[in-house]
Order: sequence, then C-alpha cells, then structure tokens
Amino acid sequence: MVLFVTGLCRFRCFYCPVSPVRNQKDVVYANERRVLRDADVLEEARAIGAAGTGITGGDPLGVVDRVEHYVRLLKREFGEAHHIHLYTHEPNPEKLRKLAAAGLDEFRLHIPHYLWGPLAADGVAYRSVLEEAPSWGIRRGVEIPVLPEKEAELRRLLVALEEIGVDFVNLNELEFSETNEEKMRERGYRQDVRAGWGVRGSRAVAERIVRETHLRVPVHYCSSRFKDGVQLRQRLLRRAERTAPGFAERTPDGTVVLGIVEAGSTGDLARWASGVARRTGVGPDDYRLDLARRRVELAPGALRRAAGRLPWPAFEVEEYPTADALEVERNPLNPAARSKAAIVAGGV
Ligand code: SF4
Repeated sequence: MVLFVTGLCRFRCFYCPVSPVRNQKDVVYANERRVLRDADVLEEARAIGAAGTGITGGDPLGVVDRVEHYVRLLKREFGEAHHIHLYTHEPNPEKLRKLAAAGLDEFRLHIPHYLWGPLAADGVAYRSVLEEAPSWGIRRGVEIPVLPEKEAELRRLLVALEEIGVDFVNLNELEFSETNEEKMRERGYRQDVRAGWGVRGSRAVAERIVRETHLRVPVHYCSSRFKDGVQLRQRLLRRAERTAPGFAERTPDGTVVLGIVEAGSTGDLARWASGVARRTGVGPDDYRLDLARRRVELAPGALRRAAGRLPWPAFEVEEYPTADALEVERNPLNPAARSKAAIVAGGV
C-alpha cells in the first residue's frame, strides 16, 4: 500500500511528480482513498491484501508524529511481518531514530542532485545518517531519479554509497508528469517516446551504470513503464480480486467492466433499483445500488441484452477498482445514454 501522509514539502525539486490535487496540501491518502480516519487506512490495506506499506509525500518527516502513529497502527494491526518503508529527502537522525523505535523497517533517502558526488562538505549530513542507521536497527537505501546530464556525479555518488555500505540503491527513470512538465521542458528534457513518460537519455545512463559499475551494493533500476505496467497493474489486480462485485468483468490490466444504469434526479432510489433489476432480469445478488453516484451496477452482458428496453441512460463502463473508481472508458448502450452523451459532449 502507498500511504501518502502529507502533500506539504519544503524541498522544491523541479522534477517533483506529486499531482496538483495533493501538491503542498496537507492531505492523507491510502492508495487513491482519501484518509479521514484510521479505519480508512486499515480498510484500504485489507482491500488490496497489502503485505507492506511505503510511506511517501510530500515530506513525511515534516509530519513525523503522524508517521509514527501510522507505523504503530499498521504494525499493531498487521503484525511485525508487515514491512514498512519510508521515503525522505531530509537527513534527520533524531526523527529517523524515533521512527525506527516505533517499528519502521527501512528508509529510502532521496539525495538532492546538487549534492551527488563523494558526500563530503555539504553532503555530509546525508553521509552521516546513512552511516548511523544500522545502529538503530533499520535498513537504509538511497532512491533517486536518474538525471541524464549528471552521469559523472552519479557514478561518484555510487562509489561513496559503496564505501558507506548502504543496503541498496534504487535508480528511477526520470519522468514527465502533469506537475513537472513545464519545468522539465524549460531545462531541455525531452520525452523518450519508447519509454512512456520517461525522459530521453535517463534509461541509457542508468543501464550503463548498472552494467559497468561493479559494486557490492545492489543497484536496482525501475523504468517509468515498469512502474505503470507492472507495479500499478499488480496493485489493481489485487484490489479487483478482493473488492469487485461478482457480476463485474475483470480485465487483464486490472480494470473492471460494469453495466450501469443512471437514475433520474428524484424519487426512491432503492425502489427504482429493484425496478431496473426486474426489467433487466437479474436476481437480487446480481446488481448493486451506488447511492453516491445514483446508479445501479450489474453485469455488462445482462445490461447489453436489456438496455434497449430501458428508458434510463445505460452504459458499459471500464474503471479502476480503486477507491476513486477512475473511469477510463464509457460506451452508451441505449438511446437515452446516447442523447445524454451528446449533451455532455456539446457542453450543454
Ligand atoms: S522531496 Fe519529493 S515531494 Fe518534495 S519536492 Fe522533492 S520530489 Fe516533490
């Protein structure tokens, strides 16, 4: 599970990928679910069968007491085996030691690109926190995006990390996002069309480094495509398996396909929903009423067969099985739906 503990951050990295709805806002999300109480965190962890949690932000150490609370909560609920790691930009031994004592298993230090090199002089705070961490009983790694023009500095940094003996280094492909696109283009970065949102040159530098530097410290590389294509997909598949209704169709990408019938604006929704079920010929366990979105959901096949007879807009939708149910496709199945779609497209 990805636990986003705050969008506030005093570092202003030009490549920051945090989305505009979260950036510099003090909000908490467990995956895509907005967290308002502890139960939201625990329910989301159960919904995806989480084996561990990655705590991220924003700057998690800016809300260290909140992070400590969640570490204790997750360990208490799911036991010691629930692995928890934290991403941070701040080399703060007091805060990290406190979190290690609360049960944090690992931190991944994000070293700013202007300090890449031997970690002497201005980089010494980063060196000391990495050197001290084993005495707190915690694993420590370094996780950074690969800036293609910084290959020499990155190589020197890896030598320093080898001397320190960090547990691992994760290199991420530098990537464009909605938030950073303008700043990245101003700096002259271009998209590598073969690499999804990856920046041209980032992958080649990372691959060269992984191939050529023979270090004892494990160096991993994570591409932009892998993150979306594998990590996200795995999480969606796990969530769909646990939360999608039996009548939904599941796709190999982890999304779910549903038939939906949208209600008019007034009236008793429960009564209306059982009327929809009767007219489409589905049993009481084969549909559900979504009160918030004022719609009935049922098997897409059953709705395709019956949609033409319904006076209400009927659609087939494909969506993420996430708490925000992001819709990726919508097809109208009857005249009422087609005229609604035309009105929306016309902006009326
Ligand atoms: S430390 Fe992370 S959250 Fe903060 S600005 Fe940099 S990339 Fe964004």
